[in-house]
Amino acid sequence: MKKYRIVVKLGTSTLTQGNIDLSIEHVLEMVRIIAVLQKQGHEMILVSSGAMAVGRSMLGYPDVPKHMPAKQMLAAVGQSRLMELYNQLFGHYNQKVGQVLVTREDLTLRRRYLNARNTLLALIQYHVIPVINENDTISTEEIRLGDNDNLSALVANVVDADLLVLFTDQDGLYTSDPRKDKNAQHIEVVDSTEIPQDLWLAAGGSVSGLGTGGMATKLQAADLARRSGTNVIITNGRKPENLLRIVTGEKPGTYFPALCSSLESRKRYMLAEMQNSTGTILIDAGAESALRQGGSLLPVGIRTVTGQFERGDTVVIRNLAEERVGLGIVNYALNDLKKIEGLQSTEIESVLGFSYGMEVVHHNNLLLV
Ligand code: GLU
Repeated sequence: MKKYRIVVKLGTSTLTQGNIDLSIEHVLEMVRIIAVLQKQGHEMILVSSGAMAVGRSMLGYPDVPKHMPAKQMLAAVGQSRLMELYNQLFGHYNQKVGQVLVTREDLTLRRRYLNARNTLLALIQYHVIPVINENDTISTEEIRLGDNDNLSALVANVVDADLLVLFTDQDGLYTSDPRKDKNAQHIEVVDSTEIPQDLWLAAGGSVSGLGTGGMATKLQAADLARRSGTNVIITNGRKPENLLRIVTGEKPGTYFPALCSSLESRKRYMLAEMQNSTGTILIDAGAESALRQGGSLLPVGIRTVTGQFERGDTVVIRNLAEERVGLGIVNYALNDLKKIEGLQSTEIESVLGFSYGMEVVHHNNLLLV
């Protein structure tokens, strides 16, 4: 069976099953299935809401507050309880989890994005399931995403996920609200380049009132993820077993096939970034031929670095004849590269006192011309 990297998004209404408090029974069943898939060799990543709902229930806080400090207080109280629960429940299946709290900028600014990516990939490599939420306690209105649907789409992009599963309270999308309209028709697949206008209208706003995102944010998230190379399915959170069906190729819900590969999406990003690029790396002939054979750029092949750039910026790579070899997202800032140019990768750590890996530009972050 093919192994997938899967981001699963569990919203508040799925975790609580529409009640005030978490439905432990339901969360346990989700956890069990996610742990089973992880044991089968899939790489599972969980984006979980519920911090504020749990905080509210723990503090006996009456309503969903409007002002930020109260929201942040609830998130602070609820998030630790939520993690305690995930630790405990995944522990039954001998599965380790790691909490990752992010803000929008951690996933969208390229420099921070690389850090988030490295942390998540390290967890995945150690078979630890990342449990991600927005860092609500420090995210103020201006910097927060506010909904975990879009957050999960950004996470899927950061880790190059094969699949994003957005659990919701229906069997996916319908032509109108199936609770009000018995002629509402289920939508199996959305594969047009632009999401049809009537689908946006049908998705409307939030209906449950418990979570922040409704169908509209799910549609937005699905669109974002499929454009960055991830297949998406919106499926029913009352049926955790849908996850097992999805990995065998069934599509119980509304399916959004990826519009491109994640590699193509990153290359498009680099081309767009080229205009802003202010850095150049000059490489020797050995490095050029390594790059052309699919290798990564290592410090040993670098002759000089010029201009100005930080880790995560897009730089132009040139050969000794000053011809453009390609573009790449660089793992080290200019000042660091000056210290390690021409050295072996094994020397990076002793020279810099830290390492972001052996490669200056990983071949996945490289666009040759
Ligand atoms: N981060 C919020 C929480 O944990 C949830 C956001 C959302 O519902 O999408 O309560």
